[in-house]
Amino acid sequence: MNTLFDPVRYVKGVGPQRERHLQRLGISDVYDLLWHIPRSYIDRTETVKIRNLLVGEVVSITGIIETVRTSVSSRRIAIIKAVIRDDSGMIPVVWFNQGFLKNVLKPGLQIFVRGKVNLNYGQMELSAYDYALIGQDKTDADPGIDPIYPSTEGISQKVWRQMVRNALERYATVYPDIAPPGTKEELGLLPARQALWGIHFPARWEQQELSRRSLAFEELFLLQLAIRREQKSLRDPNVKGVKNTEQDDLVSRVVGGLKFSLTGAQKRVTAEIFRDMEEERPMNRLIQGDVGSGKTIVAALAMAKAVSSGYQAALMAPTEILALQHYETLKKVFPPDIRVAILTGSITAKRREEILTGTAEGHYHILVGTHALIQESVVFKKLSLAVIDEQHRFGVSQRALLGQKGFLPDVLVMSATPIPRTLALTVYGDLDISTIDEVPPGRLPVKTVALRESGRDKAYQFLLKQVKRGRQGYVVCPLIEESEKQDLTDATALYQRLQAGVFRHHTVGLLHGRMKPAEKDRVVDDFRRGEIEVLVSTTVVEVGVDIPNATVMIVESAERFGLSQLHQLRGRVGRGAEQAYCILLGNPRTEVGLKRLKVMERTNDGFEIANEDLRLRGPGDIWGLKQHGLPELKLTDLWKDSDLLHITRDIAAQSVSLLEESRTIQQLLNKKYPRTENIAAN
Ligand code: ADP
Ligand code: MG
Repeated sequence: MNTLFDPVRYVKGVGPQRERHLQRLGISDVYDLLWHIPRSYIDRTETVKIRNLLVGEVVSITGIIETVRTSVSSRRIAIIKAVIRDDSGMIPVVWFNQGFLKNVLKPGLQIFVRGKVNLNYGQMELSAYDYALIGQDKTDADPGIDPIYPSTEGISQKVWRQMVRNALERYATVYPDIAPPGTKEELGLLPARQALWGIHFPARWEQQELSRRSLAFEELFLLQLAIRREQKSLRDPNVKGVKNTEQDDLVSRVVGGLKFSLTGAQKRVTAEIFRDMEEERPMNRLIQGDVGSGKTIVAALAMAKAVSSGYQAALMAPTEILALQHYETLKKVFPPDIRVAILTGSITAKRREEILTGTAEGHYHILVGTHALIQESVVFKKLSLAVIDEQHRFGVSQRALLGQKGFLPDVLVMSATPIPRTLALTVYGDLDISTIDEVPPGRLPVKTVALRESGRDKAYQFLLKQVKRGRQGYVVCPLIEESEKQDLTDATALYQRLQAGVFRHHTVGLLHGRMKPAEKDRVVDDFRRGEIEVLVSTTVVEVGVDIPNATVMIVESAERFGLSQLHQLRGRVGRGAEQAYCILLGNPRTEVGLKRLKVMERTNDGFEIANEDLRLRGPGDIWGLKQHGLPELKLTDLWKDSDLLHITRDIAAQSVSLLEESRTIQQLLNKKYPRTENIAAN
């Protein structure tokens, strides 16, 4: 019998070699192939004559390939340039970074291209987004909408279309409908099997959109069921929480020792946390607060309460740099009789052993570390509070803490990227949320400008001027996953160039992900102490680093970053009383890219930025979600489909019995949400 989980080689047209290629893209069974969603489409029903092209427009043309030339840019990116002719004229079309196309694009072939008309030294040129070879990629010659798949070298779009078509023909009928009967009809949505056809091979755009929304329903419903499943496993009546009852005045001693007074928002959120901690029910609370809103001190007060009540507290950070920074903050805010330890990868085995023993015996009151702290299941004598500084990387499951001495500690998750409340609630299930919606007084909003790359010299001169006044600055280079090595050379080269050039009379430092933790710590420390004046860094500096004297941030190739990520980065400056500046350098190639940078210029409000980010991101573009550590939703457009968030949440609440009764649902859940520790629900 055909099942959705048949190995992908059962699909006609998939041989051993293609199977290997597919596996590289994470496609191992039929389900994966059916959910390999087109990244875009080309609509061959509307094309423009070459003679009528206007600079700046995004258009589609069809014509014959005249010539093809290959070259390499100064940044070692392959450039393919093909001249295309139709009955009205000719235009060069360029593809960047797709060297393999030289074997695909051949003179004489009829081609369809969608792209943007740019000027290159006064000459019109089409910068290609997508293309299709007519008569090759499409079996019939009719105008239509063709899917374009995310691909890897070795599989052409033509092959993709064939494989997916074959998979649909044989398997679409066995695709189960998991929603309770009647629900989708009522919402005007298509059954999954029909929607899958419609997303891969739409006849019209309306059909594509309806199919997308129908499949978004499938995704969200499954996600909701996964959350329910997670919650069920936590609702074990044998697992109790603890009541924290303060035994001394530690909390007021900590508050009294601060160099500042708490903001109203900090006080309110602290009170909400304290109320939770006094109850026996385990706390599960998210503190949401924009970068620089002062979450750390709130967490420190919660830890003070736990310690004062006779328990231990743990603080987990996403990176070692941050863990170290938190450790230093805690050492400063707690009186010396409170013993704080830090567990990182860079301490000696002997010290590590001491800390583990000291924690198990209750000698240490507070233990700081990276997320590995709970993954390695460090044993505490009596842990009552775990603070997880996730910044925007959610995903540590509370379940990982269950091993602690028969009770569940209170959990406090700190997040810097405000995600809209509906989304947070949906994704976190029953999590309570506190929002620090106020920044400490006296902070000046960071002034942001987006400049074209031609403004680079000006930007660096500006930074130089600030450095001469005793300020410090960051220069951030993008990190592209596929070519970490390349980025490293970029960052290193930039570092060398700046040190030898503009900043030759100053000290430049370099920070990147490939460095050993101890090296990173040293660099950040030197920067903190002002010995490094300009820090060139990849995005490792993105989370949480708190160095108030740094007042300028220059971001290279800013168009390659997501909005929330830019906001995070920008949060590294403007943490002191001085005016801070953020300069975004980049030549965005798309409209959306341009809009993004404009949003950054316009506002410093993380919440607004998060919303804009949701709005500007189209369906299928889930980069931002991944950044939130949320499970991948391929087709859900969290902006357009926000109603479905609520609807599926309700339906899932009424369908919990399916978790036990429906084998299909179990299979789908196990497929999409294997039971690891990182399901976002906790
Ligand atoms: P985030 O919320 O981004 O984690 P931090 O907790 O790192 O922010 O705080 C940012 C900076 O603001 C720190 O230097 C901290 O000491 C300072 N800070 C926190 N609360 C206040 C306050 N109420 N008044 C003045 N400064 C504060
Ligand atoms: Mg922080």
